[in-house]
Amino acid sequence: MHLVDCRVVVVDKPFDILPGEVRCPRCFGKDIVPSMPRGLRDAVMRLFGGIPRHCRFCGRRFYIRWPRGAGGKSTGLAEGR
Ligand SMILES: [Zn+2]
Repeated sequence: MHLVDCRVVVVDKPFDILPGEVRCPRCFGKDIVPSMPRGLRDAVMRLFGGIPRHCRFCGRRFYIRWPRGAGGKSTGLAEGR
């Protein structure tokens, strides 16, 4: 069991997420495919605007959060499994 499930993904280069251009937080690959929501966690994440995605390159599963409204600066990543 993990101690904390909110590790911060540290990046050393600009990491701008644009709609339609999502990159994997681990390998920065662009081979991202939608992941089928499963379990209670995804249901909760969806309530908060989290969309499950799956990296086909490294197999990383993560959530993306589309910016709401015209802000666009609240884009965040939440790691998932
Ligand atoms: Zn990846």
